[in-house]
Amino acid sequence: MGHTHAMTGAIAWLALAPPLATLPLLNESSRFIDTGIMATALTPPELIAGALICAGAAMLPDLDHPSATIAQTFGPVTWVLSKAVSWLSGGHRAATHSLAFAVALGFGAHWLATTYPIGRDIMVVLLVGLALRAIGIGIPGNKAGSAMVNAGLTAGLYAVFLSLGVGYAWLGLAVGVGCLVHVAGDCMTERGCPVLWPLKAKWVLPWKIGIKTGKTFEQKILAPVLSIAIVGLLFWRLAPV
Ligand SMILES: [Zn+2]
Repeated sequence: MGHTHAMTGAIAWLALAPPLATLPLLNESSRFIDTGIMATALTPPELIAGALICAGAAMLPDLDHPSATIAQTFGPVTWVLSKAVSWLSGGHRAATHSLAFAVALGFGAHWLATTYPIGRDIMVVLLVGLALRAIGIGIPGNKAGSAMVNAGLTAGLYAVFLSLGVGYAWLGLAVGVGCLVHVAGDCMTERGCPVLWPLKAKWVLPWKIGIKTGKTFEQKILAPVLSIAIVGLLFWRLAPV
């Protein structure tokens, strides 16, 4: 289910952001060169923006499914996008559920972040919107209303990030990590994923035994555990020592 992917995306970012700073990909941002460590180079608003964007990116692979709730995030805009993704990738759980997709999207987002500010902003808004939708922001049974609420909240968050001077040198990493977390998550279900697409073989973890996840398990056990993990990680990363 959507919110599980989004929450694991946020957890992955909060856990991995400091070690990821050692990658050369981020070196063009002067602040990373100055400090060398992302834990101090990332401001608290950037860490939080990254967690939201990584959560949103963890929803991207499922845009290949136009009837999913996530495809309704920004009304017809995301629905058309979802139709296009579905057609290009060859249906649900095909090309978008692979290593190749995660790497391509990560580098694509990184390229946008460094060379094409408008494209970067569109990507940021889309991903924040997907994250909000995944955690259930919206009006039940009202598609147009949900899209408006979501657009308003996303615009507000985008403005807050802007006013706090959030930089996006880490955008590509957050997007790549988010997509990978989604693929890993889907591999733990019975249907598996074509991790090495375009090879067709489906990967199921662990040891080819898919875990049968049900709605009750995700809502009653997984969601509370993941929520506690997010709060704990936020405290660990941001609390003054
Ligand atoms: Zn999926």
